[in-house]
Amino acid sequence: MKQIVIIGAGAAGLMAAAIAGREGARVISLEKMNMVGKKMGITGKGRCNITNSADMSEFIKNTPGNGKFLYGAYERFSNTDLLDLLHSWGLKTKVERGGRVFPESDSALEVRNTFMKVLKQYGVKVHLNEPVQEIVVENNSITGVRTEKEFYAAHAVIIATGGKSYPSTGSTGDGYTLASGVGHSVTDIRPSLVPIVTKEPWVKIIMGLSLRNVEVSVISKGKTQASMFGEMMFTHFGLTGPTILSLSHTVGKLLRKKNSEPITISINLKPALSAETLDKRLQKDFELYSKKQLNNGMKDLLPQNLIPIIIELAQLDGHKPINQITKEERLRLCHTLQHMTVTVEGLRPVEEAIVTSGGLSLKEFNPKTMESKLVNGLYGAGEVLDIDAFTGGYNLQAAFSTAYVAAMHIIHGDD
Ligand SMILES: Cc1cc2nc3c(=O)[nH]c(=O)nc-3n(C[C@H](O)[C@H](O)[C@H](O)COP(=O)(O)OP(=O)(O)OC[C@H]3O[C@@H](n4cnc5c(N)ncnc54)[C@H](O)[C@@H]3O)c2cc1C
Repeated sequence: MKQIVIIGAGAAGLMAAAIAGREGARVISLEKMNMVGKKMGITGKGRCNITNSADMSEFIKNTPGNGKFLYGAYERFSNTDLLDLLHSWGLKTKVERGGRVFPESDSALEVRNTFMKVLKQYGVKVHLNEPVQEIVVENNSITGVRTEKEFYAAHAVIIATGGKSYPSTGSTGDGYTLASGVGHSVTDIRPSLVPIVTKEPWVKIIMGLSLRNVEVSVISKGKTQASMFGEMMFTHFGLTGPTILSLSHTVGKLLRKKNSEPITISINLKPALSAETLDKRLQKDFELYSKKQLNNGMKDLLPQNLIPIIIELAQLDGHKPINQITKEERLRLCHTLQHMTVTVEGLRPVEEAIVTSGGLSLKEFNPKTMESKLVNGLYGAGEVLDIDAFTGGYNLQAAFSTAYVAAMHIIHGDD
């Protein structure tokens, strides 16, 4: 009987443990926290966006951090394979807007509990509060792992320690140290899916304001580098929300180029309207409120606290009576409504990111098996690898698929 040690009991570690247990291996799961799947419990705002119903080619497109590495894993264990498996374990799921798949109960804890039930059923031994401190290798082959308490001999070891974001969930980057201790390389560790820090002080005034149906663009060198339609929010340091988190990948890339060109974020508050239609709309409102001051004539168009900001950005006087606003001033206002611009200062740190970009270098892992090319019997799965995807269930699917492939390869070898 093969003895397998799995380091970390997050999404990837739990899947690997369940599959290896199901296939008849003796499995020990070592988790440093006092519970398994702590991060899984907070995913999808507590609802756990397990995967996506999109075609698997869309998964690759939605994985800007080395999506192509996942072809092999997705061929062997796709979103439908995952859902079939979870359903067979008794977890009911539903599909929402954008193909996002959630548990029917809307409870991330139910997903975690399902794994705990299955691990028990397959006799997996879970050791909580037991961080792995060293991976032990002899003659380029794995012999086991060491914790403060014990040495665990193993035929195979899977590193599933996650990335470096949200360290309170246990993902503190241990896997990078453990793997580099046995010769693996670690790429640059950076935040991805992370809020953006901006320069303009007025952002603070409207912190908490959330905007829906806006188009947000990243501009550099006078060109739009990426755009997203959807929701965003102002915070005390800058911007956050779904569009911003997704665009942070592009911003991160531009920041690394370190040229002196400023990077700006342009917000189109009325993306459904052309400049001409917006101007007509504004003229209609101005007719209606012609006797009011500008400050009081835009309430049909914008949230109240945004009005003084827009007026200032358009360099207009809010106390000016609307019937005295010139055409030139009105056009300037129109332009500001579709190009509300803030300057990027940087990204929030990796600890605040939804995922970690970078990780164990993929050059040193076989994409078909997840086995290390340097150490026989050592495998990597999940976010510890240099893989990162957008929101939509793509990160958890990557963790589940890589874990599944690793566990199956350990038990059955190359089929
Ligand atoms: C707030 C938030 C919301 C998210 N929502 C979604 C979502 O809805 N859908 C989605 O697809 N993705 C989501 N993600 C991303 C997703 O949660 C991660 O990509 C995924 O959890 C990675 O799984 P993992 O098993 O590789 O790592 P983790 O889930 O981070 O698990 C790693 C585990 O290893 C343990 N560990 C670390 N070091 C050691 C050690 N030395 N010894 C033993 N154990 C160790 C940790 O304690 C942890 O339990 C979200 C992330 C965050 C932060």
